[in-house]
Amino acid sequence: MTCLRGVGVSPGRARGPVAVVAAELAEPASGPAPGDLVAEAGRIGPAAATVAARLSDRARSVSGDARSVLVTTAAMAEDPALVRAAERLVAEPGLPAPRAVWEAAGQFIAALRAAGGYLAERTRDVADVRDRIVAELLGVTPPGVPELTAPSVLVARDLAPADTAGLDPARVLAVVTEEGGPTSHTAILARARGIPAVVACAGVLGLDAPGLEVDGNAGTVEVSDGSVRAAGPRSRQQWDGVGKLADGHPIKLLANVGSAADARAAVAAGAEGIGLFRTEFCYLAATGEPTVADQRAAYAAVLAPFAGKPVVVRTLDAGSDKPMAFLPAADEPNPALGVRGLRVAFQRPDLIDRQLSAIAAAADTGAEVSVMAPMVATAAEARWFAERARTAGIARVGVMIEVPAAALAATEILAEVDFVSIGTNDLAQYVFAADRQLGAVAALNDPWQPALLRLVAMVAEAASKAGKPAGVCGEAAADPALAPVLAGLGLTSLSMNSVALPAVGTALAGVDLKACRDRATDAVAAADPEAAPRRR
Ligand code: PEP
Ligand code: MG
Repeated sequence: MTCLRGVGVSPGRARGPVAVVAAELAEPASGPAPGDLVAEAGRIGPAAATVAARLSDRARSVSGDARSVLVTTAAMAEDPALVRAAERLVAEPGLPAPRAVWEAAGQFIAALRAAGGYLAERTRDVADVRDRIVAELLGVTPPGVPELTAPSVLVARDLAPADTAGLDPARVLAVVTEEGGPTSHTAILARARGIPAVVACAGVLGLDAPGLEVDGNAGTVEVSDGSVRAAGPRSRQQWDGVGKLADGHPIKLLANVGSAADARAAVAAGAEGIGLFRTEFCYLAATGEPTVADQRAAYAAVLAPFAGKPVVVRTLDAGSDKPMAFLPAADEPNPALGVRGLRVAFQRPDLIDRQLSAIAAAADTGAEVSVMAPMVATAAEARWFAERARTAGIARVGVMIEVPAAALAATEILAEVDFVSIGTNDLAQYVFAADRQLGAVAALNDPWQPALLRLVAMVAEAASKAGKPAGVCGEAAADPALAPVLAGLGLTSLSMNSVALPAVGTALAGVDLKACRDRATDAVAAADPEAAPRRR
């Protein structure tokens, strides 16, 4: 029986016939030059509008983050800058329209790639829009997810956000991709839709199999006969909305949010508060720094649904994978190791002071507001931030532990702040020297890696000695099998995508503290991630 191993990024087991996502388009020819250049250029705008309309139609049939991804992609298809650049390439040097679109998009992609980080991730979206417009101009089927007539296992090299956003859980039994990492769009959206998914599964496109059996927990993909078995609905009703173990030991279950819509979804899912409000999502589209009043309003919209409950607002985590248009990008050979997170604030203290005063002002929504800083490396940095935050009138101040040095200096850092929150996404990336966006090194970014868990244990122990809370707000917190391990290590809160809350809450309610401690001991002592005895 052929069995491939990738990285399980969305839990559940399912089996079904294979549907392969159409391969990318071949580069369109650059000749012969069209006879009527004006007429040829005139085809581009309508083709782009047709693509945008189709994407908008699909957006109307879905909701939430799926809709926003499709709306963004539709807007990209209609971007007059892209259409005009392509029209110019028809006029001079006389390219056929499909080739002109291809090259114009290529210029955009090169610019995004040069910008690096978060913008570089958008190159996939531009390529997706390019392919749709080119296919429209050529009159061929666009690449992407085929129309599914029966429940299927979707297999692809990678999925564009627009593809993943439109996936119908009733038709898509599971998703397997050759590329992608645990924080890729495919992973996050598959998790949000409850579709089992395995990424970074090398060789899956080469399998000539009638069906596949996918285990999104173990990260395995086996050849099957094409019969169907769906993953089954995730249990939602067993969690009563209070984070605690079977013996009553409390562990706060919080949500990660980036917008008011996320905050409302978090309330609906029963979050006891917000453990990570990624404020950079309020800045991403801004071409200039938002005013304090605008920031206050954006923060208040997120805080308001959590009146009377704890909300941890993270200050701007700009740089690296999240460059901001209004902050000139430094020319850094290694942006993930460069001026990002709190390091931006050292260069621009005015910026963080304005943000802190906007956050302090938004506290009038009634939420119990704390702030925390991203990318803190030393106790001196933690002190610098804590002083500024307290001067701005915010009483409760914490920092993220996502740089290995900060985990090693947790005791000294905790002496400066009121709490810490472990960002396992970056902590794993830095401790394993493995880019968190890269499928090829995804296995190293597995939150079950014992070396990562040992650092987590170190932080939890330092916090418990200091008598201060320590939580996890990276993707590790969303794994129901890992949650008891994290509780056993002594963490006091877990913050996650709100879709994961019921499963994590249910998993914790089924074990007592002694069992959690045993699991933690086993997982930390394991030789490798697979060896953790109660991994699944
Ligand atoms: C993390 O690094 O784990 C984290 C929660 O922050 P982000 O994913 O926003 O970098
Ligand atoms: Mg981080």
